[in-house]
Amino acid sequence: MEDFDILIIGSGVAGYHALKELGNAKVAMVTSDKYLPYDRPPLSKEYMRGEKKREELFFEGEEAYKNVNVKLNTEVKMLRQGEAELSTGEVLGFKKAIIATGGTPRRLSLSGGELRGVHYLRSLEDADSIKEDAGKSKNVVIIGGGFIGMEVAASLTSLGLSTTVIEVKPYIWNTFVDERTSKFIQSYFEKKGVKFILNESVKEISGKDKVERVTTEGGKGIDADMVLIAVGIRPNIELAQRSGISTENGIIVNEFLETSMRNVYAAGDVANIPYMGKRLRIEHWNNAEYTGRLAGKNASGNTEKYDFLSSVWSDIFDMHIESAGETYGYDQEIVRGKMENNSFNLIYVKGGVIVGYLSVNRDFEELNTLNELIKRTVEVKGKEGKIEDEQFNLSSLLS
Ligand SMILES: Cc1cc2nc3c(=O)[nH]c(=O)nc-3n(C[C@H](O)[C@H](O)[C@H](O)COP(=O)(O)OP(=O)(O)OC[C@H]3O[C@@H](n4cnc5c(N)ncnc54)[C@H](O)[C@@H]3O)c2cc1C
Repeated sequence: MEDFDILIIGSGVAGYHALKELGNAKVAMVTSDKYLPYDRPPLSKEYMRGEKKREELFFEGEEAYKNVNVKLNTEVKMLRQGEAELSTGEVLGFKKAIIATGGTPRRLSLSGGELRGVHYLRSLEDADSIKEDAGKSKNVVIIGGGFIGMEVAASLTSLGLSTTVIEVKPYIWNTFVDERTSKFIQSYFEKKGVKFILNESVKEISGKDKVERVTTEGGKGIDADMVLIAVGIRPNIELAQRSGISTENGIIVNEFLETSMRNVYAAGDVANIPYMGKRLRIEHWNNAEYTGRLAGKNASGNTEKYDFLSSVWSDIFDMHIESAGETYGYDQEIVRGKMENNSFNLIYVKGGVIVGYLSVNRDFEELNTLNELIKRTVEVKGKEGKIEDEQFNLSSLLS
């Protein structure tokens, strides 16, 4: 059995950034991915549209891993105190381990769900197979109007496919924005040619040996050469469960990202983290990077607490969207900028303080100021009119 100082499980955003904090430690990175660490956000955006090359997806070249024992295409099956059993049968010894196993797209058990041309998207292979199919297709149906579904809808529409989004709830992006904002985004998509079927679930996907049609429970039939099912992810907690580590909507960690097993940390989409009196399981790139680094630092001997305002971005057509904090359950919404000009910030206020925002095509200075205002819980009661006014310098609220 070979012994390591640190074992990293998973090579996504969190696993990769954990590695960057480990200095000269003897490290093994075991991952079920086929490739060295690469970035996922471009898979639904620039890479799907052919604007980014495959080699540009990788965080670093092979050279960067020359002192790391990287085992690709390999799963960690079980952790026991200081030992990891791999899918190859090999056992590795470790002093500290970081679980960064991310998530897997939720499957829909639909009749026809296994037909050729039905896709899910998480990995580079998934993106390659969607791209390949898109090149031969005219009509695509996307099941799920969340982030990934809408990004792929935008990318495939840009590539010339006729795109229909089916969403079971009354409006798209429903876990994230209110109905009014959702309708604004929807009408933007509609102007680009995307069609929507809302408030309906899918009954079946049909076709001889590949996808030909999608039928909704309400009886609508849509011709389709390919289908993307994008209905969220579930955290990859099986390893933790098998190993007796506490889980509940992810792997339960404390503020230092320590799991219930001594010397084992968790980071990224899989971690369920305590913060400001709540438990958060966040599926954002920024949070995966931050927690990956934090787990790396703490596994190296630090005792730093989680303290982070996570934010998420998305690119759809020519809209760059950024959001942080709470985007629902607020008392008041302040609109800074103009929705019709495609440059605005919806700023959410609760109890007299800014708790979150959703911005479209705004500059980073404004976003950084808003992040600070949220973190510092600055009182803005009576200043709503000023905040609305684009001439008003938001950063003056910080002093
Ligand atoms: C297409 C796409 C677009 C996205 N766009 C955005 C965006 O625009 N903005 C944003 O904020 N976020 C975006 N995200 C989300 C963001 O990419 C994730 O939050 C981030 O990848 C999470 O990183 P992670 O390291 O926790 O997990 P992952 O990146 O999922 O990595 C998990 C790793 O663990 C491995 N693994 C799993 N189980 C095991 C096991 N038992 N043994 C060994 N290895 C294992 C996997 O193979 C993988 O390498 C996007 C995600 C996708 C899929």
